[in-house]
Formats: sequence, structure tokens, C-alpha cells
Amino acid sequence: MARYSHSGVEERLETSSAKKLTDIGIRRIFSSEHDIFRESVRRFFQEEVVPHHTEWEKAGQVSRELWEKAGTQGLLGINVPEDHGGIGGDLYSAAIVWEEQSYSNCTGPGFSLHSDIVMPYISNYGSKEQIQHFIPQMTAGKCIGAIAMTEPGAGSDLQGVRTNAKKDGSDWILNGSKVFITNGWMCDVVIVVAVTNREARSPAHGISLFLVENGMKGFIKGRKLQKMGLKAQDTAELFFEDVRLPASALLGEENKGFYYLMKELPQERLLIAELATAASEFMFEETRNYVKQRKAFGKTVAHIQTVQHKLAELKTRICVTRAFIDSCLELHSKKRLDSATASMAKYWASELQNSTAYDCVQLHGGWGYMWEYPIAKAYVDARVQPIYGGTNEIMKELIAREIVLDK
Ligand SMILES: Cc1cc2nc3c(=O)[nH]c(=O)nc-3n(C[C@H](O)[C@H](O)[C@H](O)COP(=O)(O)OP(=O)(O)OC[C@H]3O[C@@H](n4cnc5c(N)ncnc54)[C@H](O)[C@@H]3O)c2cc1C
Repeated sequence: MARYSHSGVEERLETSSAKKLTDIGIRRIFSSEHDIFRESVRRFFQEEVVPHHTEWEKAGQVSRELWEKAGTQGLLGINVPEDHGGIGGDLYSAAIVWEEQSYSNCTGPGFSLHSDIVMPYISNYGSKEQIQHFIPQMTAGKCIGAIAMTEPGAGSDLQGVRTNAKKDGSDWILNGSKVFITNGWMCDVVIVVAVTNREARSPAHGISLFLVENGMKGFIKGRKLQKMGLKAQDTAELFFEDVRLPASALLGEENKGFYYLMKELPQERLLIAELATAASEFMFEETRNYVKQRKAFGKTVAHIQTVQHKLAELKTRICVTRAFIDSCLELHSKKRLDSATASMAKYWASELQNSTAYDCVQLHGGWGYMWEYPIAKAYVDARVQPIYGGTNEIMKELIAREIVLDK
């Protein structure tokens, strides 16, 4: 469990007490109410998630009961407006749940994707009926959400999706398949990206989003995929075989799907960046504690100067990243985070998470390679972060595009 100490310089600064709980550097974005909330979120992960995680890793999924407990505790849909059926809390409170999950080193529950990726689509673009139908149930943890963009033949290039929906009277007939879908096995509702106009002037102008519900005829869930890490997270293939969807299943306007994706992806990237930074903080603390008790050559490993220098490098990189990510959170809370900056955050923090994982396993020696040591799990869980949510190569494309096109 991460408990961060801080230097004398930090002690003298006027900051929220959040730093005592969570940080490696100075945090200025949280209030004392956030700190109290954080305590309860931390308790939830320690009591309801940590003791069961090994069992869920074997099962390849968490329990439904956990989702409902998280709903009862008010941990889902935090940043979704109350009048839509969400909790109506601020972005920082949502971020506390992301961070605390990372500090627990338990990647199984797909809460953040559900609450901060899927729910915003429904809340921002859904009809009154869709909002009423889904959001309160999702906040309660009784309806689990997923989003299906990626296909076996199209990941980075979303304009290449082949899943399609054709009009049949006022209904739509959906055909195609999706892969690597987080919460895919357990989901009750999935937002499906599909082509609705092949004649559009560009593929981006012919894509729509649909709300597909579990149990609809022709909606088939494939196998839970065997992954290198994220063992307790249900990642699945989904198939759509002539699924008849009522007109009311269309999310937002027809052929506007790509535009909605572009609007929502920065939040997804910020979320990954936040998880990555918190995971780096967690790994640093694990390693600090380990080297302070591990002995070699008659002294603790922490007394070796090269180890101290490595820890100094790690701490510096993590602190600098934390400052940037907090400023991104601040910008996003004011709706001023642009796509290129969100891409920078995702690219940078996920690379940091992986280099930190590498160094921290190394500092654990052979024990770092053993599954019973939390650092081993943190290492494999880190690997996917530069891949999903748009690969880091695509992040660099987005960052570069803004540099080149800028004035
Ligand atoms: C555990 C996990 C969970 C996921 N969850 C979801 C989910 O919930 N929903 C969902 O829709 N998707 C999900 N994904 C899919 C993920 O977003 C994609 O895997 C990712 O976008 C990359 O697509 P791809 O796998 O098809 O790789 P490809 O697009 O085939 O890329 C292969 C390589 O080529 C590089 N590349 C491609 N195009 C360019 C370019 N223009 N310039 C430079 N390099 C390029 C890529 O960076 C990569 O290195 C998940 C994936 C994983 C592994």
C-alpha cells in the first residue's frame, strides 16, 4: 500500500493534506473534502477488492457483486451530472478513484472505463430516454458499460472499421465483430462503432454509434481473451449477427459518431495518463520499501549509492510527470484540455510507467520476477498502457500534427 513521505521543503508549503495520503510531490488540486473521500475509496479497494483479486485473476473477471458494492458506495458515475442519474461530483473526485485503484495494484475492476469513458458518451449525446434508461442503473453498478471501437482488422485506423448498420424501415440491422473489448464479457450495454454510410465523402463522415444491450438476438459474446497482464479484467471479442436495433438505439445523430469519438478521446487519454502516473507512484513506494529492508554485502540495498541514484532519478521523473498530469486534470476540469496535450500526457505517463516498472523490478532482483511480489504484477499490467486508448505512435502523430499545423 502506497504511503508517501515527503521532504522538508514540501512540509513547509501550504497544500492540501491530500499529499500526506497520496503523493510523491506536491498536490494542489485537492480539497480537504477530497481527502476524506479518498480515505473511503482507499478503504473500499483494500476491503472489497484486494482480498479477492487473486481469485478474480484466475477467473479472468471480477464479480458482479463488486460492481453493485461500488455503486452503493457511490464510486461509479461520479463525474456524471446528478440530473442525469450520476453522482454529480467533480473530475478530481473521479480521479481519486482512478488513483486509488492504481495504488491498490488491482487492475481487475473496469470502473474507470465504465464511469469515465462509456457513461459520458451516453450523458453527453444520449436522448432523454437513453439517459433515463441507462445512467441511473450504471451509477448503481447494475448495468455494466463497454465501448467497442477496435476490430480484428482495424485498431489505430478507426476509419477502417467494417462493422456496419443498415436501415430496415425505422430499425437498423447491425453486422460485424469487435475485439479487445474491456468489460466485454460482463457488459450489459456496449457502445458499438459502426459504418452507416459507405458513400460519405470520407469514412469519418459515415460512422455512427449504437447502444447494444446484452441479450439482444444476434449479439454474441466470444471468449474472454488470455492476456499478458490485467488478468482479472474481462477483455472479450464481440460478434453482431443481424442484430435488429430499434431507432432508439442510435446514440446521438446518424453519421456523427467519429466526431463524438474525437470529442471524448482526450478524456480517455487523460485517464490512462492518470492511472499510469499513480501506478508509477505505487511502484516507487513498493521499491523504496523493498530496498530499505533487503540486505546485500552487510548493508541494506538502499545504502548502495547507485541504488540511491536510481531512486533519485525515479522520484524526479515521477514528480515532474505528476505536476504535468495534475495541470492536465486542472485544464480538463475547466474544459480546456486539447487533444494534443491529452496525447502528450498519455504518451509520456505510459512510457514513464513502463520505464519505472523495468527499473523497479530490477531493484527487486529475482524476487521482482516472482508473481507473489506486487511489482511483478505491476510490471505486466503496465505493458498495455502505451498500446490501448490509441497507441503512443498515434499519440505522437496527434502531437506532431498540432505542431506542424500550428500557425
Ligand atoms: C487489454 C486491451 C484492452 C482494450 N480495450 C479496448 C476497448 O475497451 N475498446 C476498444 O475499442 N478497443 C480496446 N482495445 C484496443 C486498442 O485500443 C487497440 O489495440 C489499439 O488502438 C491499437 O490497435 P491495433 O491493436 O489494431 O494495432 P495496429 O493499429 O494494428 O497497430 C500495430 C502497430 O502499428 C503502429 N501504427 C499503426 N498506425 C500507425 C501510424 N499511422 N503511424 C505510426 N505507427 C502506426 C501502431 O502504433 C502499432 O505499433 C484494447 C486493447 C487491449 C490490448
